[in-house]
Amino acid sequence: MAWFRKPKKPIQASERRDLPSDVFDKCEGCGEILYREKLLQNLKVCPHCDHHFMFSATEYVQVLSDEGSFEELGRGLRSADPLEFTDLKPYAERLAAAERKVGGGEAVVTGRARLDGNPVALGVMDFRFIGGSMGSVVGEKIARVGRLALEEERPLLLVSASGGARMMEGTYSLMQMAKTSAMLARLHEASVPYISILTHPTTGGVTASFAMLGDVHLAEPGALIGFAGPRVIEETIKQELPEGFQRSEFLSEHGMVDRVVDRRKLRETVCLLLGHMAPEWRSE
Ligand SMILES: [Zn+2]
Repeated sequence: MAWFRKPKKPIQASERRDLPSDVFDKCEGCGEILYREKLLQNLKVCPHCDHHFMFSATEYVQVLSDEGSFEELGRGLRSADPLEFTDLKPYAERLAAAERKVGGGEAVVTGRARLDGNPVALGVMDFRFIGGSMGSVVGEKIARVGRLALEEERPLLLVSASGGARMMEGTYSLMQMAKTSAMLARLHEASVPYISILTHPTTGGVTASFAMLGDVHLAEPGALIGFAGPRVIEETIKQELPEGFQRSEFLSEHGMVDRVVDRRKLRETVCLLLGHMAPEWRSE
């Protein structure tokens, strides 16, 4: 029976080379090789070091809504390429490629949903779609989901993941900052709660508009959150930046973020907050 009791020894780095890429993932945080199925069950958080792998818009929708309750809105909206912009390739081609990558739609998914049986308006950005950049469609969809929240008095939840403005749309892209901010101001006046959830990375025009205008700001651990990147800031101010600069934990210590929340606790934290912020939300 000795061959049943083969001594267990840790897997050596040299043995790890040829792991099938569709079954295992390597953690960027600790280098551990993780069984993908297990990682998915853990909401793509490394069980060894709590590193948060990137999550798609669909995956956040699943976490932040009751099963089968999500009704997507504005899925047919498409950017018009007003500048007929071309860099390495035409913008229209980039859009088509991005649509193929995420399976249709744009860099944000929006709609009505229920959470713990209560109504919410939900918007989730998808970083895979041209770096989650905010063009006119993203701005329009955020503004529309804000209006939905206002008209139906549903608390608004927005999950951000963005490299900033979409350069290929120039000024049209920048205008979305004002448009989304104006919508949120109306929501604020009407006392409809808005929780902003910041994920890795949230930068540029999205940080400078709707992502930082929440009644409450939650951030995932280790997320990069800022306007300009650290290298640009360092070169501008000619000073070395403190350790952990622009990460969730640093922003939480300095008052920009209310709480850093592990993805596995995100749903219950949002429910708890909405229970306090929107008492009628519970009793409906
Ligand atoms: Zn890890």
